[in-house]
Amino acid sequence: MPRDLIERFREDDRRFAVDPETCFCFECDAISWDVLEYYPHTPVNRIYHLLEGQYRREELTEVVGELEWLRATKSILAVPKREDLLKAFEVERGLKKLSVALSREGAGNDSPPTSRRWFSKNEPHVSETAVEIGRKAVALLLNRSGIQNDLHLEFIEDRTIHAPELIADLCEYALNMARVAGKRLTVAVHVADWPLSSVPEALKGHAVGVKLEIVDAAAAREYIRAVWAGNHSPPTLPRLAKAIQPAAAGIGGRIVVRPNHAAFGKVVEVLDDAGFSVIEIDTDAAYVAHPGLDPGLMLESLRQSAVYYAERLLAHHYFKLDPMASLFWRIYNGTPLWRSDPAGTNELAIDETGAIYPCRNLMGVDAFLLGSVAESTLDEDAVRRFEDVGSVTTAPCIRCWARNFCGGGAVAVHHAFTGSFRTPHDPWCDMQRAWMRAAIAAFQLLSSKGVHFERIYNTLGHLTSDGGYRRLGKPSLFTLARAALTMTIGVRPIEEADAPLLTQWENWNESAYFLFNETGVLLATKYDREMDSLHPRETDHELVLLRKNGTPFGLFKVRPDRIPGAAHAWGHLHDEKDYAAETIRKGFRALLKEAAGQQAIRRLTVPAAPWETALQAFLEAVGFTREGVLREALYLHGRYHDVALFSIAADTL
Ligand code: SF4
Repeated sequence: MPRDLIERFREDDRRFAVDPETCFCFECDAISWDVLEYYPHTPVNRIYHLLEGQYRREELTEVVGELEWLRATKSILAVPKREDLLKAFEVERGLKKLSVALSREGAGNDSPPTSRRWFSKNEPHVSETAVEIGRKAVALLLNRSGIQNDLHLEFIEDRTIHAPELIADLCEYALNMARVAGKRLTVAVHVADWPLSSVPEALKGHAVGVKLEIVDAAAAREYIRAVWAGNHSPPTLPRLAKAIQPAAAGIGGRIVVRPNHAAFGKVVEVLDDAGFSVIEIDTDAAYVAHPGLDPGLMLESLRQSAVYYAERLLAHHYFKLDPMASLFWRIYNGTPLWRSDPAGTNELAIDETGAIYPCRNLMGVDAFLLGSVAESTLDEDAVRRFEDVGSVTTAPCIRCWARNFCGGGAVAVHHAFTGSFRTPHDPWCDMQRAWMRAAIAAFQLLSSKGVHFERIYNTLGHLTSDGGYRRLGKPSLFTLARAALTMTIGVRPIEEADAPLLTQWENWNESAYFLFNETGVLLATKYDREMDSLHPRETDHELVLLRKNGTPFGLFKVRPDRIPGAAHAWGHLHDEKDYAAETIRKGFRALLKEAAGQQAIRRLTVPAAPWETALQAFLEAVGFTREGVLREALYLHGRYHDVALFSIAADTL
């Protein structure tokens, strides 16, 4: 049975379509929904014939044109290149995450500390085993990280930080060792079951933990001390939020809830109200701890959480909710996820005795024992078994429409349900697909309002030692195409096949686009243009502007300036009449808005030669301001000419 090229589904009386390969999804109206029943496997004339009783021919032509245009931008039905197909089967090597449960031998009981004194004389004796395992864990992570540069080390605790002195020492040690090894490391102290006073109804019965995340060695000790001391009596949620989220660089905390029953739909709202800015709902751990949980009931709570999250983002109230934020990101950005669970290959876990397992959720399962840091052993053959997981090599996933959103699920969850880490459980998969549908629908709440999710996601981003956030990913044409669904024009990068057309456009063309640059010559060869498409400059983005039917009609190029937030751009429309077209002006403005948002551009400057009066009028109509003139900046036909500069601030778009 062939795989569906476009998956259609209904959610809350709304209709959606998804390309399972590119992850491009969009909301459909009735006519698009009906056309997609036949598109692309039925010839277009037959589609017109089949639907002629329901819709006018012009409407059908318009919908087919839009779908063809999405196809031209490679947002849907893209034919993967051979190397991309092979890439899906490549195993990403190098350890990225290591979880470590330290021995509590001599570390006191489970009660929180009764004194506020810092690391008093009564500080429990630190076990030698714990110190040794902690240090060996750091060595294991750094030595097996290979090409990976962003690493995560997590110390697992329960109810309190039992040996804060030891944990602080190990955090400092790990961060210092990572620095000299040239790696970016985040150390986390994950305390499960943190005791709370006055637990709200929504949280009752669930396991509430905290994760302290540290990237700055100098800040580690005081942070751990402060949170440890604050636990002397169970705090309220707002007090806990304050304690784990200090306003300081290089440290930050999140609250982690492992649902113990299916009614957790109000948890996110309660935690958001209490002031937590990073919230994680650990459903994988929930299924591992309680394989009897009903996936269908879990879905309702996930759906409620996703809708609440989308509505809060829409109201400009930003916080990070995992896994929803990263799922929204994938829906927005369209990066296929071939493998969601790094267990065994990019992740390992070490228990109190030093035994090594593929991940935290498989810790203690004898069948998955991989070795021991205490004895310096690791069974490489047993590790290699985990290279073969993920959606491209798991039989049921290959035909699943959600494969590139789900990435093949979690091995510990599959093992908990079916007894095999490579066999997904059908009811769980049904729930997972329903969850992906619900998330796509919830995300459309943002998308339909034109919310720029990349900007939001980056502000929700990752901790850095200077107190800022690490920007994620590179600007995506895919998201430009998504925005362009509501636009009147489209874009795509130049391709080798464009070379003849671009050569024809460029030869003897006197536009600033071709002349006012570092080459400044009046001719281009097909070879030059092929090279441009095959080897684009690192910093330049040269795009072909497309009409809705996919025909190229112009060029646009952006190059970031050395001053952060500033960029130079060049624009050229092949047919001068297009400069005056209202639909193109509107589409170009929307395109600029999306491109500026993606690349965090605040100001864009475009040159125009004196004879490009149509371009100048176009730029002013789009919202650019004439900033000034570069005197005698362009040499042409034996004399110098002035060049006018037009600029626009992104926040005015
Ligand atoms: S939902 Fe199930 S079948 Fe589909 S990709 Fe995920 S694990 Fe595989």
